[in-house]
Amino acid sequence: MTAATEVGRAAYRDIVCYTVDQGPVAIDLRDNTNLWGVPPAAARAIADAAPTVSRYPRVYASELRQALADYVGVASPMIVTGCGSDDVLDASLRALADPGDRVALLAPTFLTVTTFARVNALVPVALPLTSDWDANVEALLAAQARIIYLCSPNNPTGTVVPRPAIERLLDQTPAVVIIDEAYAEFAGVSSHDLTTRFDRLLTVRTLSKAFGLAGLRVGYGIGDARLVSEVEKARGPYKVNAVAERAALAALRGDGAWIHEHVREAVANRDRLADALRRLGLPPLPSGANFLLVPTPRASALATKLASLGVGVRLFTGLRTFGDAIRITVGPWSVMATFLETLERALAADADEQGGGIRCA
Ligand SMILES: *Cc1c(COP(=O)(O)O)cnc(C)c1O
Repeated sequence: MTAATEVGRAAYRDIVCYTVDQGPVAIDLRDNTNLWGVPPAAARAIADAAPTVSRYPRVYASELRQALADYVGVASPMIVTGCGSDDVLDASLRALADPGDRVALLAPTFLTVTTFARVNALVPVALPLTSDWDANVEALLAAQARIIYLCSPNNPTGTVVPRPAIERLLDQTPAVVIIDEAYAEFAGVSSHDLTTRFDRLLTVRTLSKAFGLAGLRVGYGIGDARLVSEVEKARGPYKVNAVAERAALAALRGDGAWIHEHVREAVANRDRLADALRRLGLPPLPSGANFLLVPTPRASALATKLASLGVGVRLFTGLRTFGDAIRITVGPWSVMATFLETLERALAADADEQGGGIRCA
């Protein structure tokens, strides 16, 4: 064995870095970001921020923390920020469990969490949904986990965890419960109000989706002040950079109407797209987010065909319960209309190939 194979933690040897297809496509429906673009006040703040970057930002983003507290309607000691909500999730797993503890989650869900659990020497335990795709509270309770992770609306399914299931879980478990609400604005429901009743609940949010600021990496958590201060220890200083902090502040203070309007449009377009997909024989799962998941055995062929026609969708293969599927980000209707036309061409081409017969050029 050479010295090189000994480098690093033993537990990291079979962890692979996150990879995702970011190759150029004319229409990119792969990552659930805001297809209407950057909100205008934030865009101005980014342009104005250049002179500030020779100095460090606030150590724990105090001003942003207050603005997020105002947005959510809690006191600022209940907020922790981070370099994307990924950072908040990672820090929470590190802060709120000891090495070797279990992290229970329902598959399929946001896979990054499984990696973060392993990177922090925790043991992810993936449990199935119930037969009607519902949150499997009994399995989560039985898993003897130190942390339970739920995602609502869930990525990649889009499904919303019903409020009574969340309350039952919180009533019965001694575990810390993390609820990832990256898409909460589109669902119009949130669990964050439960953080005042349950001091072991952390609700995690982001400015990467409804707020159109994915490239700046700003996320936050909401929870009891004592829980949040533990997460902050693990998070570390200076995680929200100076440009991101200014743009996020501008968006929170000045872009409310823009965000509200585009969330409303995304929801309307999602439901319209779902109807169109049903008519094409590709029914999506019910979604509370700004994307739709379509389970279909044709997923792989369709994703390849769509990519060759300039449209990127996210392909999943072998998802627990759902098998192969494509996930489609919802955007302006003009973009959705082009997607649907392209999808019809892809379906026709795929049917020709399935038939093994004559291929149209
Ligand atoms: C997109 C997404 C996030 C956001 O991650 P950021 O690091 O804030 O960009 C978090 N959780 C889920 C489930 C997501 O889909």
